[in-house]
Amino acid sequence: MSSIKKIAIVLAIAVAAFLPTLWPNPYYVHLMVIIGIYAILLLGLDIVVGYVGEVSLGHAALFGIGAYTAGVLNFQLGVPFLLAIPASIVVTAIFGAILALPALRVNGPYLAMVTLAFGTIIQILINEMTFLTNGPLGLSIRKPIFFGHQITGADYYYIVLVALVLTLFVVQRILKSHLGRAFEALHDSPVASDCMGVNVYGYKVYAFVLSAGIAGFAGGLYTYSEEYISPNTYNFELTILFLLAVIMGGRKTRSGPILGAIIIVMLPNVLSDIELFRKISVGIAIFTVLYSTYAVVAGQRTMKQVTLPLLVTIALAVSGYVMDNITEQRLTIFGAMILFVVYYLPNGIMGFLRGIVQRVLPQWIHRHEEVYEQGDKQHVWSVPDHPVTAKGYLLEARNIVMQFGGLKALNEVNLEVAKGSVHGLIGPNGSGKSTMMNVLTGIYKPTAGEIEFNGKIITGTTPSSIAGEGIARTFQNVQLFGEMTAVENVLVGLHHTYRHSLLDVVFHTPRCRKEKHAARMRAASLLKFVGLSDLANEEARNLPYGKQRLLEIARALALNPSLLLLDEPAAGLTAPDIKELIGMINKIRGHGITVILIEHHMDVVMSICDTVTVLDFGQKIAEGTPASVQSDDKVIEAYLGGSASAKAA
Ligand code: ADP
Ligand code: MG
Repeated sequence: MSSIKKIAIVLAIAVAAFLPTLWPNPYYVHLMVIIGIYAILLLGLDIVVGYVGEVSLGHAALFGIGAYTAGVLNFQLGVPFLLAIPASIVVTAIFGAILALPALRVNGPYLAMVTLAFGTIIQILINEMTFLTNGPLGLSIRKPIFFGHQITGADYYYIVLVALVLTLFVVQRILKSHLGRAFEALHDSPVASDCMGVNVYGYKVYAFVLSAGIAGFAGGLYTYSEEYISPNTYNFELTILFLLAVIMGGRKTRSGPILGAIIIVMLPNVLSDIELFRKISVGIAIFTVLYSTYAVVAGQRTMKQVTLPLLVTIALAVSGYVMDNITEQRLTIFGAMILFVVYYLPNGIMGFLRGIVQRVLPQWIHRHEEVYEQGDKQHVWSVPDHPVTAKGYLLEARNIVMQFGGLKALNEVNLEVAKGSVHGLIGPNGSGKSTMMNVLTGIYKPTAGEIEFNGKIITGTTPSSIAGEGIARTFQNVQLFGEMTAVENVLVGLHHTYRHSLLDVVFHTPRCRKEKHAARMRAASLLKFVGLSDLANEEARNLPYGKQRLLEIARALALNPSLLLLDEPAAGLTAPDIKELIGMINKIRGHGITVILIEHHMDVVMSICDTVTVLDFGQKIAEGTPASVQSDDKVIEAYLGGSASAKAA
């Protein structure tokens, strides 16, 4: 973190600490407490929405569970504050797990649907379980007494402030660790995450449970702030407000949720005070006019692009003077705001401001300030060798059938890959090569057949466990984590080397630091191996296509595989780059890593493969040394037939 950022954070906390003294009105102090509590919840919600990219419509209900856990424990059993709050976290996290475990098993909008139903059920349950919750009448709780001192509303402000700072700290640590990297990676490319050993399902559940625990924390704090809770607080409107806050404030930032919380707490107040609304809407309109003028003059936006936002903000400002009561137009204004944010501020307000700062003062915003360890010592590729001791096959695929509807993409294919060899897999387009690779890595479950790797049957296991067994791959259509830097992409491949727990992450224990350091060293040496050292901190999506392919190889090697699958690694590479690639594959083989190589460049195949298998229409038509395969009649026909029909088409 840059020192400017640190100073800004300390200043912000200091200002927050002084606010109640400057502004002692109890009503405002209470509003600030609610902002703090919502901000805590939103920091957690952002893990699910911003990082993992799932929509939760159940966070109001989770908030309610946290609130009622503390409320019921205190009301019915007299459990003190310092025990009730941790209980809120734990109970809500358990509910989060119960929700997420089945809902996230399937892809698609299931989490949204399940959490929506959950919200309704929870509200009904709280209403009906009168013996615990007192039903619609609600529960009354007093603020805690510490050392004989009854905590007042103003005191509680400081408790919430400490809680918020603590949450910020913990969430920041988690998101900057290998856990946060896993969350980001699975959102960028689920397939690649799984194939790098980062179990997408497991980490999605992890993220949701963390987020639920934080919602429970906020809920518990809320109970003591309000001193009265009743079921209808935790309704659908609140859930929508939470989502609006995260999206409007800015996803994947720590400041966004805080800004979002301020907006959703202040909004009803702004909308009930016409004078305030006029001032703010005129302010926004003036800012939009100035910014649009600047953007058009500087050539960053066209006139057409800025017209609509200009009209909307000016209309909003004018509407304040036309109407004398806007409370009834609340929902219209809400709707307009959501549309405006979705269309014009896809990264939220913080994302928008960040964009401006990045243009004006690029050195201020660096996605990754932590420079990876260059190390003075020689940069050896610090990956353990895989000594080829016993002869025999590393991988045997027997009678593999892969059927897509009526098409047999693979038909009774046998493949034996000798230890320490480079095994070529060739064939015309659509012959089933990539399908074979997807079957071997568990992305497709074969219709029939069996795969034995290292003496173990791996058919039917998940891609992440197959990766854990030591099979790494690259993809024909590059599957990098685009929003992450090159070095971070490699670090995702090194995920298996991080054995430390959540507590190690939060407390930054020596174990955590040691593993982090070791991983960074290895990432640096792997980048060096593929010649990408200079581009380590470049976002993967900004790399030229050829470099992206090389980065995929580095990331795959990070898994420390004994078998490496390369799907057309030379595609998009220039002639000198291809030469380097050949050298690279030879070096990889030199480390004892077995390679399966799909390639269209025949010179590459011929110069490095020990054995070549040829597929055509899902069938194996030839196998042998490169030379024997090259002169095989069936192979020549398959290739010529393929190109002849391609020409005809
Ligand atoms: P290639 O040898 O060019 O890598 P592929 O393995 O990608 O060929 O494809 C082999 C055949 O399987 C093609 O006809 C392709 O359309 C089909 N195929 C591959 N994946 C799928 C899928 N997920 N669903 C349906 N058909 C598929
Ligand atoms: Mg292919």
